[in-house]
Amino acid sequence: MTAALPHPLTPDVELTDYNTLRFAYRAQYLCEVETLHQLHEILEWGKQNALTWRIFGGGSNLVICQDLPGITLINRLKGRVVLREHDDFVDIEVCGGENWHELVAWTVAQGWWGLENLALIPGSVGAAPVQNIGAYGVEVKDCILAVEVLDTHTMQLCHLSPTDCDFGYRESAFKHQWAGRYIIVKVCFRLSKLPRRVLNYGGLNQRLAENCSQQEIFDTVCQIRSAKLPNPNELANVGSYFKNPIVADHVYRELLNRYPDLVAFPYGQDWKLAAGWLNEKAGWKGKRVGGVGVYSEQALVLVNYQDRHAAGLLSLQQQIEQSVLAQFGVQLEREPILLPGEAE
Ligand SMILES: Cc1cc2nc3c(=O)[nH]c(=O)nc-3n(C[C@H](O)[C@H](O)[C@H](O)COP(=O)(O)OP(=O)(O)OC[C@H]3O[C@@H](n4cnc5c(N)ncnc54)[C@H](O)[C@@H]3O)c2cc1C
Repeated sequence: MTAALPHPLTPDVELTDYNTLRFAYRAQYLCEVETLHQLHEILEWGKQNALTWRIFGGGSNLVICQDLPGITLINRLKGRVVLREHDDFVDIEVCGGENWHELVAWTVAQGWWGLENLALIPGSVGAAPVQNIGAYGVEVKDCILAVEVLDTHTMQLCHLSPTDCDFGYRESAFKHQWAGRYIIVKVCFRLSKLPRRVLNYGGLNQRLAENCSQQEIFDTVCQIRSAKLPNPNELANVGSYFKNPIVADHVYRELLNRYPDLVAFPYGQDWKLAAGWLNEKAGWKGKRVGGVGVYSEQALVLVNYQDRHAAGLLSLQQQIEQSVLAQFGVQLEREPILLPGEAE
């Protein structure tokens, strides 16, 4: 091992407070990074000592299933600035360690439209592009102008366009070809100064008038989410555990014949099936298996009541996948990232 540990790096840290499933694995080294200078210093030290790295924001989209080797960075890069203002729009640049929901609340307070449907999603700004977070008919890619990253191969900062990022449904290049290379340090958003209401998803148009205010949309999204999703500070979870499966039109029609109450949304030529509905129909809603279970209000969410390790949750995942496949012929896919190994 070369030289002394850089100051903010701590060896052998328990990760319970760094992941919202509250699994108690350990990081070989952990560092809460507050400046770009620190980030450079730690990564250089890691290279000299042949250590791998990964970065967390709020740890709200992770299933850690072993102790983590190498360096676990926690993104605490803070700050936001207005880059330019126009009559119709504003461009802002936000550091990756900022809290996502606080950013959304701030943009709503300014009257800048675009992010209000994404209220109350836990986690950091820097993680938002990674899975192209989405809710209530909006995906974050719709407002992203550019993503600023530190390229850990060259140690240079560079800007990536939304096209470069190859955004898809809960997908981006950060989870695939760029995994282990780029650290998102800032995200630039273009927000509208003119109303841009998206109300056609998740029952918003039944609760809100066509000309509702941005604040009403924000408040309604917060209300619905609070009623339906467990607060990770009270009950450990990672939100939706499964992606909504996308199926061809003929598969959708065949399922609709068998289940007239099937919940699905058009997705281009295909259909997106509500994975929560599939799980509920398969009898999983509210079931508890050992220390883990399926949330009583939303069968898409798996919760951890008391386990310190991931075996019970991964077994529950497998049981749900098997039963949904047997009943509907549809393969579910896990949404959160499994560590160590995936997307790094
Ligand atoms: C109650 C609840 C509700 C949720 N609802 C939604 C929802 O409606 N829609 C939705 O899309 N998601 C939802 N999620 C999932 C999660 O909140 C989002 O995916 C969020 O963006 C994760 O942010 P994070 O900072 O916690 O990321 P983490 O879990 O810390 O990291 C997730 C991934 O991103 C990578 N990453 C993190 N920061 C960076 C960075 N700076 N640079 C490069 N890679 C990085 C990590 O390495 C990891 O691979 C929900 C989760 C919970 C617990």
